[in-house]
Amino acid sequence: MTYDDNNIFAKILRGEMPAHKIYEDDETFAFLDIMPRSKGHSLVIPKTPAINMLDVAPDDLCTLIRTVQRLAPVIVEAMGADGFMIQQFNGAPAGQMVFHIHFHIVPRYIDVPLKHAASDMEQEDILATNADKIRTAVETRLK
Ligand code: 5GP
Repeated sequence: MTYDDNNIFAKILRGEMPAHKIYEDDETFAFLDIMPRSKGHSLVIPKTPAINMLDVAPDDLCTLIRTVQRLAPVIVEAMGADGFMIQQFNGAPAGQMVFHIHFHIVPRYIDVPLKHAASDMEQEDILATNADKIRTAVETRLK
C-alpha cells in the first residue's frame, strides 16, 4: 500500500478540508474527531506523510507521541474528564479507516460509556465549543 495524498487527514493538513484544530507545532497537528466516542475525542497526526505505525519514521513517531503525552492531560482538564484512553489502529482489519497515522485521545468520564467508533456525527456548535475550551487550556498550559 502506498500513501494516498488525498486521504482526509492530508486534506485537513493542507487546509482543503475544515477541522476543529486544537493544537499545532512544526511537526504535529491535533483536531477534534467529528464522530467522537466521548466528549473531547481528539486526533493527533504528524505533518509528514505516513500510513501507520510500520510506515512512520521512528523520529516522527517519537515527536508524535510526545505531542500526545503533552496534550492528553490538557484535554482532560479542559473537558472535565476523569481519565483518558489512547487508541491507534494499523490496517483496515484492525479498525483503521483513515490511512494517515494518528493517535486518538479519548477522554473518559466516570459512568459514561463510550460510543461506538465513527457512529454519530457531532453537532458543529458542540465541536466548536469543545475546541474553544481545549485551545484556551492549550494556550495556558502548553505555550
Ligand atoms: P481510525 O479508525 O482510522 O483510527 O479513525 C479515524 C477517525 O477519524 C474516526 O474516529 C472518525 O470518526 C474520524 N474522522 C473521519 N472522517 C473525519 C473528518 O472528516 N474529520 C475529522 N475531524 N474526523 C474524521
